[in-house]
Amino acid sequence: MKITFSLQAVTIGSFMFLWLTTCLAQAQNRVTILVDAFSKVATLKQDWGFAALIEYQGKRILFDTGNNSDTFAHNAKALGVDLTRLDFVVISHRHGDHTDGLRHLLKVNPGVKIYVPNDEYFGGPTPMGFFRRKEPSLPTHMRYFNGDVPLQVSHGSPWPQENMSRIDSSTMVMPGITIVRNIAQVRLFGETPELSLAIQTPRGQFLVVGCSHPGIEQILGSIAAKQNSVYLLLGGLHLVQTPQPELDRLVKALRDEWNVATIAPGHCTGEGGFLTLQQSFGARYQYAGLGTRIDLP
Ligand SMILES: [Zn+2]
Ligand SMILES: [Zn+2]
Repeated sequence: MKITFSLQAVTIGSFMFLWLTTCLAQAQNRVTILVDAFSKVATLKQDWGFAALIEYQGKRILFDTGNNSDTFAHNAKALGVDLTRLDFVVISHRHGDHTDGLRHLLKVNPGVKIYVPNDEYFGGPTPMGFFRRKEPSLPTHMRYFNGDVPLQVSHGSPWPQENMSRIDSSTMVMPGITIVRNIAQVRLFGETPELSLAIQTPRGQFLVVGCSHPGIEQILGSIAAKQNSVYLLLGGLHLVQTPQPELDRLVKALRDEWNVATIAPGHCTGEGGFLTLQQSFGARYQYAGLGTRIDLP
């Protein structure tokens, strides 16, 4: 009887130890790169685009979903990432290399909450002024909405609207976790709103960016990075086609003016961007290829 009890106690003790270590492992603050086009891990599928899982103080946040639903599913499985357990998702912007994995995600986690920019692509309104030119001399049947255009015309969207929470301005969604909104005024992309994620850590802000179409300096300005320093900047900086003199200026500005402590560039930062940043940041450059896990403070 005594022996049985001891064995039970040992068994229960082992289970509790396992449970505790599992909980501690789960509570680890870290980021995992799920989609990108460079990697040290041969078993993962490289693809253009970006997706990362952020685990912070017990919260699990998916940032972007990559370029291809199957690739996203493969990498998430290979990295042991359970997509059914997410607190919320942030989609940085409308481009397909950040959104296609939503098709897989919504299959495995149909109720998941998804923050998106308030953009036509996600079911947002048609920009004001689109119907500005009016021609009252036309017969009614040739005029939009018979000449009486509604104040707001919403676009359709490939994504279920019940999951989508459209963000119009920077919003703190949980204590210390802010979804940052900027707008790109880029010729090729027009007005493209883009979301980034800023998490306040004890060592400064952790900033995750998708493509940085609005410009990384605009995004850093919007989180007051000169006053509240950035401990780690991670993601796409959109410097693939940036000429070297501008790359040199920007990289120096990130290091010396914007006080970015460590940098983990990925996606559309470009090979020239990787090289220039690595030369400039030295030991403060953090490799962030597909499959990389980076611990957070
Ligand atoms: Zn993009
Ligand atoms: Zn992109």
